[in-house]
Amino acid sequence: MVIDNIDFPFTYNQPEHTTESLKKAIVYKLIFLIGRSPQEASQRDWLNATLYAVKDLVTEGWISTASQSRGEETRRVYYLSMEFLMGRTLSNALIAEGVYGLAKDALSELNVDLEEILEKEVDPGLGNGGLGRLAACFMDSIATLGIPGMGYGIRYEYGMFQQHIEDGHQVEKPDAWLEKGAPWEFMRPSKRFNIRFGGHIYFEGKKCVWENAEEITALAYDQMIPGYANNSAATLRLWSAHAGDRFNLADFNKGDYFRAIENRSSSENVSRVLYPDDSTWAGRELRLRQEYFLVSASLQDIIKRHKRTHGTVANLADKVAIHLNDTHPALAIPELMFILVDQEGYAWQTAWDMCRRIFSYTCHTLMSEALETWPVEMMAKILPRHLQIIFEINDYFLEYVRTYVTTDAEFIRRVSLIEEGDFRKVRMGWLSVVGSHKINGVAAIHSDLMVTSTFADFARIYPERFTNVTNGITPRRWIAVANPDLSALFDKYIGAEWRRDLSRLTELKAHIQDPELKQAIPQIKRANKVRLAEYVKKESGIELDPNALFDVQVKRIHEYKRQILNVLHIITRYNEMIEHPEKDWTPRVFILAGKAASAYYAAKQTINLINDVANVINNDERLKGRLKVVFIPNYSVSLAQIIIPAADISEQISLAGTEASGTSNMKFALNGALTLGTLDGANVEILDNVGKDNIFIFGNTVEQVEALRRNGYKPFDIYQSDEQLRTVVDQITAGRFSPKDPNRYQDLLNSLRYHDYYQAFADYRSYVEAQKAVDEKYKDQSAWVDSALQNIVNMSFFSSDRTIAEYADKIWKIEPLKLDYNPNLIG
Ligand SMILES: *Cc1c(COP(=O)(O)O)cnc(C)c1O
Repeated sequence: MVIDNIDFPFTYNQPEHTTESLKKAIVYKLIFLIGRSPQEASQRDWLNATLYAVKDLVTEGWISTASQSRGEETRRVYYLSMEFLMGRTLSNALIAEGVYGLAKDALSELNVDLEEILEKEVDPGLGNGGLGRLAACFMDSIATLGIPGMGYGIRYEYGMFQQHIEDGHQVEKPDAWLEKGAPWEFMRPSKRFNIRFGGHIYFEGKKCVWENAEEITALAYDQMIPGYANNSAATLRLWSAHAGDRFNLADFNKGDYFRAIENRSSSENVSRVLYPDDSTWAGRELRLRQEYFLVSASLQDIIKRHKRTHGTVANLADKVAIHLNDTHPALAIPELMFILVDQEGYAWQTAWDMCRRIFSYTCHTLMSEALETWPVEMMAKILPRHLQIIFEINDYFLEYVRTYVTTDAEFIRRVSLIEEGDFRKVRMGWLSVVGSHKINGVAAIHSDLMVTSTFADFARIYPERFTNVTNGITPRRWIAVANPDLSALFDKYIGAEWRRDLSRLTELKAHIQDPELKQAIPQIKRANKVRLAEYVKKESGIELDPNALFDVQVKRIHEYKRQILNVLHIITRYNEMIEHPEKDWTPRVFILAGKAASAYYAAKQTINLINDVANVINNDERLKGRLKVVFIPNYSVSLAQIIIPAADISEQISLAGTEASGTSNMKFALNGALTLGTLDGANVEILDNVGKDNIFIFGNTVEQVEALRRNGYKPFDIYQSDEQLRTVVDQITAGRFSPKDPNRYQDLLNSLRYHDYYQAFADYRSYVEAQKAVDEKYKDQSAWVDSALQNIVNMSFFSSDRTIAEYADKIWKIEPLKLDYNPNLIG
């Protein structure tokens, strides 16, 4: 390989790699990087040696395309996100580099089993759920499409907590993911920036001076995200907080060594731990510091790089797009104003025009309780200059509204960036809208609702800013890595190209009646169910029958996602089976998984209830094994990769109007599960793509939900009139599933009977009926397989490559790099 006229001394890049050369590379890494002989190496040593060998391959491509993306003419995008839920790296990298088979053979000659060591890799949990996983799929697509861009996030020392289930309860254990080393990352000791907090501001004439009180250092760690078969990689740069060399010398000299150290460690808290909640924010100071830490480090880095290439920031808006993944990085807007006005000396209006051309923002929710705000008082203390800038942005903005839109005081009060009252708050959603040129929702229905509800006032002020970009998932991880058998089947019928162009799936339609294909689909599903059953057996001792219908709901536990509705139906079914044991019951396995935020009482109660119900049902001999319930602990990307390919039914049962998009719904359908869902989020577009005969839709529509709310929804009436529902609720109330603690679920049930904010009772009957239709369809296996196939072949639209191409085209205005796509690497 030749880069900048330097011929690299090593050329072990594909397609030159052979089993022999890869074997040598792995053993070399084992001995010289890890310091172990093959004789004494543990499984983890082999894993790390293989990781290092494959990292070299990725690095070659990374370095060789980096200069292109740094070029003067290139416009780049920076994706700012507080979360990246990347999943394990090795299996994905092996596939991207086209050496999975070679590595398997090479290791096998060393008496090492590739699949076994893959399972040893730590799965870094640097995200909560959907939002973080979306950012990960996006990085994969950015790398594969060759979009010049980078991700920026935080290198939390502790990621998402590990979930244990003890006595039916969720117990949280810290996730010390770095303790086993992080072989995939590159530490960048030279990439360090000061992050300032606190203090006060004063004016020297017109110039504002921020005299900060604290300073910490942000240190960069880079991860390569390999593009698929294109000899290229994107960069994810994660910031870690360091006290730096700013010892408090006074303390140190007084001999108070421990105080000096103690202060260091508390300033490093900023990147200590991921907040285990992404839907409601307890406005905690540390979280605000985290958000500013990400924003300030990333913007300093972006500006420095831009100046190195262009020698000026005057053309920043021509060359740079910055995307805000939710409002969490919205401080980037005042931060860029701070840089441009206070540091670079631009006039306010010039700076503001640049800002608005640079930023774009994705909204991930509609629920008002999930919209981020920060107390003015807190922001004044931590970021006095930024708060002042936000006030100034607000003054100009409200002036614009008064001049061009309306002078209605009520309207002005609603759209103000500052929520007035006894405790004034900064509205981060409003700030993001005012400071961005495009704001997108994440599914068609969500984007429609966004402009009629949450951002209705802003859609009146800036109608041209609002748009939709429906989410997607990467077919590399969610098929190629997670479902190797299905991948092989695709390869056989349509070749290997689908991995980088999911629209190729439509070519499968020509074969849809092929008996061999129709036979292979249930065989693959069964093998995946056996794989999952083995995992469950090993982890919890519960036996699952792979011939049963696997009905799966895996996602964060949240009231709006309505795991409780699932439980109500499970108990209903249980009662019916006990009453009519003679009936021809389709054997069912209900699988649930997901973490509850540690302070979220109702969600934790739900987990407890699922486990209590599972315990009763799984031990009831009368069912003859035809009904099982399992809660699989510690849901994560690596678990999702085992669970999702094994599903027959994908439960997507949120109350209509609450789930912005969902992405697991796409993963399931692509893996051949049939969706049982409400008309919510991307379920609506899945329905459009697969057709109504290949999906089970139930429940109230958004309009019906709103009408119920308007007219006074009375869940108690439904409880009284629906006998099956009443029986189930009364059983739980009477302690049928928690005999030792019969009152355990009183709060949960009272809240359902008297409030039921997410209208589970209202959709109960329609859900139970839909479940019956599922049973009926499953009895006709041929019809079921036809529908599964219809799901698979109609999923092209849901590739995150399509999503990212839309962002690049419509929002970021970015052209892909010219990469040499290498067909030899495919497969
Ligand atoms: C895809 C995914 C999610 C998102 O699931 P939804 O059902 O869309 O909420 C959450 N967690 C993990 C680990 C995932 O892979």
